[in-house]
Amino acid sequence: MHTPILPPDEAARVRERWERLGLPGIIDVHVHFMPQRVMDKVWAYFDAAGPKLGRSWPIAYRMSEHERLSRLREMGVLFFPSLNYPHKPEMAEWLNQWSAKFADETPEVLRSATFHPEPGAGAYVRAAIEDGARIVKAHVQVGDYDPNDPLLDEVWAQLAVAGTPVVLHAGHGPAPGTHTGPEGVRRLLQRFPELTLVIAHLGMPDYGAFLDLCAEYPNVHLDTTMAFTGFTEESWPFPEERREDLRALGEKILFGSDFPNIPYSYLEAVDAVLDLGLGADWERGVLHDNAARLFGVRANPTQPLLR
Ligand SMILES: [Zn+2]
Repeated sequence: MHTPILPPDEAARVRERWERLGLPGIIDVHVHFMPQRVMDKVWAYFDAAGPKLGRSWPIAYRMSEHERLSRLREMGVLFFPSLNYPHKPEMAEWLNQWSAKFADETPEVLRSATFHPEPGAGAYVRAAIEDGARIVKAHVQVGDYDPNDPLLDEVWAQLAVAGTPVVLHAGHGPAPGTHTGPEGVRRLLQRFPELTLVIAHLGMPDYGAFLDLCAEYPNVHLDTTMAFTGFTEESWPFPEERREDLRALGEKILFGSDFPNIPYSYLEAVDAVLDLGLGADWERGVLHDNAARLFGVRANPTQPLLR
């Protein structure tokens, strides 16, 4: 498996990008830290993904957990979550416990939680919120569930009331699932219009439909994860005619990377967003300010503001 070559001066070059904008660093809303045996399975999935996705997907940051944390710190990533997600029932609570412990040990980490449609999901999501979860991950394709499954009614109702942002991977890309696509999310928002969502990957490849939802619902955001990179543009190009929407919805667009599971460098992910050329104000919002506002955090990681 060919591993992407990372620029030796990557950290300095990433820092140069945000320093130039006068930012204290980057907030990345889409980062994965997982129990190592789960991460190993995710890596094995991407190693074997060639046939399924129609292209190879070498993991750029296949490193120890310690090295991955150091990388993020060196690049000046101020805050990030440890997004976990179950592919089967009776796994979410264990992942939530792991994420809570990881957040307790790592000051930059936004405490994260997840769920699966199963009896008791409402109760453990409530417990996670009470325990201080600040971001929730839901993965419709990997979990293989309908976001409108009645077993999730209590989960969504609570998340809507708490206002906890949910990073929702619901698009057909990079791999479609039985329940992926914008229709299920539109139905969900009709039922819970107050939900704070962060649509992962800008909803790729249905960028337009998800930009429409973002414009329509005040609490719907989009993360840039993998979008605009050379790798993604080859298969799922962003529609040129929707570029103005990116500008208009700029305050609801958040930088995300999918670190460490990306087939290119972090620098490339940052540059893909900057290369849109939407201006310094937009760039400051996307790389830092919008997420700082949404999560109530500020640059000194020892003093996070509580929501
Ligand atoms: Zn991801």
